[in-house]
Amino acid sequence: MAYKSIILGTGPAGLTAAVYLARADMEPLVIEGPEPGGQLTLTTEVENFPGFPDGIMGPELMDNMKKQAERFGATFKRGWVTDVEVEGRPFKLHVDGLGEVVTETLIISTGASAKMLGIPGEKENLGKGVSTCATCDGFFFRGKKVVIIGGGDSAMEEATFLTKFASEVQVIHRRHDLRASKIMQTRAQENDKVTWALNKTPVEMVSDGMKISGIKVRDNESGEEEVIDTDGIFVAIGHNPNTDFVKGKLNMDEKGYILVDPGTTNTNIPGIFACGDVQDQKYRQAITAAGTGCMAAMDTERFLEGEATIDWSENLS
Ligand code: NAP
Repeated sequence: MAYKSIILGTGPAGLTAAVYLARADMEPLVIEGPEPGGQLTLTTEVENFPGFPDGIMGPELMDNMKKQAERFGATFKRGWVTDVEVEGRPFKLHVDGLGEVVTETLIISTGASAKMLGIPGEKENLGKGVSTCATCDGFFFRGKKVVIIGGGDSAMEEATFLTKFASEVQVIHRRHDLRASKIMQTRAQENDKVTWALNKTPVEMVSDGMKISGIKVRDNESGEEEVIDTDGIFVAIGHNPNTDFVKGKLNMDEKGYILVDPGTTNTNIPGIFACGDVQDQKYRQAITAAGTGCMAAMDTERFLEGEATIDWSENLS
């Protein structure tokens, strides 16, 4: 099966690209990964997406975007892309669940996933007191003590959010200085429910086999270890871009974010475009992702106008 354009990922970037390409009669195929809708489906209310004066729930926003793309002719299929052959066009994609698919152009909007600490007790207690999403799981810790790991904006934002439910939220950060912006720091610092364990490195998550009871940390000055009692551990130490399947094939920075030509969504391979969080570690907002999704669709259209290798009058898709 050959397509004019395939979009990988269904967050705001991929779905916006799908709306634009579908409206331009490009009949895009959108491949949905294991988290359809992306990170916004893990949030509750979105208050800063323009056009919704009363806010909108994250899953509903993503559902609306998908319906909008489908209305104009985008096709959605579930699959997991394991490899992309980028030498020569059309590009060949190897997709678990779909087999081999061929496309003239490709938009990568596979987003980013939460980073983990990689310490003992973390993986096996995910969902048993360890979480990477305060907005999803905060509700379960009403009246309990939780800790949050990290010193960036995410950690500050989630610490403040968690005080709605928890009796105490302790921020554990590996340095004395926080990385977060001043305004986010101040908001957390002014909240009476937020306490601080600074200059401490998490070394192990402690559980009784059923649920989390504490976290062992090492003081970076004295080297002493202690267990901080807690009912829940929220890990908020940043994200990794989901780009493993094109590693070594597209130009990336040292963290794996895809590099695009400034002011465009062009990667180093003509015909492959990147948008959303896979190429943005600075803004990471739904609206900026949607904006770059629109750019990727327009870059794709212009590329196809001048560079198509398949005679689309035969309409292979
Ligand atoms: P980040 O800025 O990269 O911060 C990650 C934090 O986790 C840092 O404090 C880092 O410590 C710590 N960390 C990383 N790896 C660790 C490890 N292995 N063990 C212990 N601690 C570790 O990530 P982020 O907070 O997710 O923010 C990412 C971007 O999104 C930023 O540009 C941020 O401004 C933006 N953002 C904005 C908002 C908002 O404006 N509402 C909300 C969230 C995020 P060090 O400081 O020592 O490196």
